[in-house]
Amino acid sequence: MVPSKVVLITGASSGIGEATARLLAAAGHRVVLGARREERIEAVAKEIRAAGGMAEHHALDVTSLSAMRSFAAGAQERHGQIDVLVNNAGVMPLSPLDALAVEDWNRMIDVNIRGVLHGIAAVLPLMRARGAGHIVNLSSISGHRVDPTAAVYSATKFAVRAISEGLRQESRDIRVTVISPGFTSTELSDGIRDNDIRAAVREGMRSAIPATAVGAAIEYAITQPSEVDVNEIVVRPTMQA
Ligand code: NDP
Repeated sequence: MVPSKVVLITGASSGIGEATARLLAAAGHRVVLGARREERIEAVAKEIRAAGGMAEHHALDVTSLSAMRSFAAGAQERHGQIDVLVNNAGVMPLSPLDALAVEDWNRMIDVNIRGVLHGIAAVLPLMRARGAGHIVNLSSISGHRVDPTAAVYSATKFAVRAISEGLRQESRDIRVTVISPGFTSTELSDGIRDNDIRAAVREGMRSAIPATAVGAAIEYAITQPSEVDVNEIVVRPTMQA
């Protein structure tokens, strides 16, 4: 049996983060849920505890380094260690570059890149001090290819892969995993303002896999023996091009 781990999950109020929290808690891990919509993470944590799992929640905006640091420091204080951080929080307000949606570009950079870096900054010293730990970063199929309207989103997800590979190369004690999902049924497309682009993405989402499929990939990576570092998992609908 895999020993119970302390797992911090950002963006746990919906979609992949929520599904991962539920799966890992059902497998006996202690999950610490973070997101901005506190009432939602509170409800998920309550449901997990009612089902016999170990879960707690803390409001978190990953664009704030100090918020991310106190999220991690609190977990470290309460549980003595952080075994895994899942840097999952992300946004995808797609638009063509011509639309000059500069605020959306900046938001994607702030959440999808800075948020991941803030997560790493918050846990890396703690994991290095212990000589163990695991950082799981959510990239995407869009971290492997670029499509129209997704230039900036793809850039952020390419960045997640670059940062993860750099961290892996610099580490002999900490495991680093990139999860690159394809279409997954979540709330992610709600953030697309352009009606036509949102409709096109939702059309593609008709073949989407459930968020639990991505959660299962994360569970696989973190439950391997400590000398086994699963570096990347690409998981997408069978029928996705
Ligand atoms: P959801 O929109 O369902 O979930 C996104 C999560 O990110 C929410 O819990 C949201 O919580 C959180 N979030 C957004 N901004 C912040 C912030 N500033 N601080 C903290 N949390 C934040 O989408 P998914 O579950 O699909 O997305 C999860 C990850 O998976 C993302 O990184 C996404 O890019 C990636 N991904 C998703 C794919 C898909 O097809 N669904 C495909 C490939 C990758 P709140 O608003 O409460 O803060």
